[in-house]
Amino acid sequence: MTKIAEGVLFIPGQDEMIPDSHTYVVGLPASQDLSLIDPGLVGKGSYKLDALRQMGIDPKSIRRVILTHTHFDHIGCLLEIQKTMPWLEVWIHELEATPLERGDERTVYGMEMFRSMCQTRYGVKSGAFILHAARKLKDRELLELGEMSWEVIHIPGHSMGSIALYHPPKKILIPGDVIYADHSIGRFDLYGSDGGELKRSLLKLSEREVDILLPGHNEVVTKLPAGCIRETLRQWAPYLV
Ligand SMILES: [Zn+2]
Ligand SMILES: [Zn+2]
Repeated sequence: MTKIAEGVLFIPGQDEMIPDSHTYVVGLPASQDLSLIDPGLVGKGSYKLDALRQMGIDPKSIRRVILTHTHFDHIGCLLEIQKTMPWLEVWIHELEATPLERGDERTVYGMEMFRSMCQTRYGVKSGAFILHAARKLKDRELLELGEMSWEVIHIPGHSMGSIALYHPPKKILIPGDVIYADHSIGRFDLYGSDGGELKRSLLKLSEREVDILLPGHNEVVTKLPAGCIRETLRQWAPYLV
């Protein structure tokens, strides 16, 4: 686990056949009001909890899990983590929270082929991710997380309820799987994906100043070159219709 900035910790994902998302912990340590962003793949909860303990973080100070979106590689170990910390609230964008509450797990797996592969490989049963979202997030909502303010930016296209969390004072962006630091972007061929929406979402992100880019996978960058998001959009725009 690495400290990225005051109030932002990074636990790298441990990819296997299916990727495991990076996990971030946000909130000032003294606040005792920490949030876990994207727990990760099934089976990856215990090492992430160990990483928290090694950093001397009291599990009781972690109050909630916020999901950038509910794909299997981000939500997979939520249950495992909730077993250890049953008090954790789950906050998700309303467009993915409501279907999950109703038992619609299509976004979790993205496509039928992945559903059978994930369920066979990990022994997960249908209905495993039916949950109650304590808070349903909306675009441009301001969240006070551990004495830091984070803006919710709704960025659909990779999935319908994808969000970024943006912390203006330090220009930190946590965009889930919508954009990565190497000019690549999230796939847009899954259930709920939409290339045109992804283009508009990238445009929305390109209007923010970002110094620290903390995506769901791959490289984490603390000195993002100016205009990087705009350049990524320029390269991908012809394919995003
Ligand atoms: Zn992912
Ligand atoms: Zn994803």
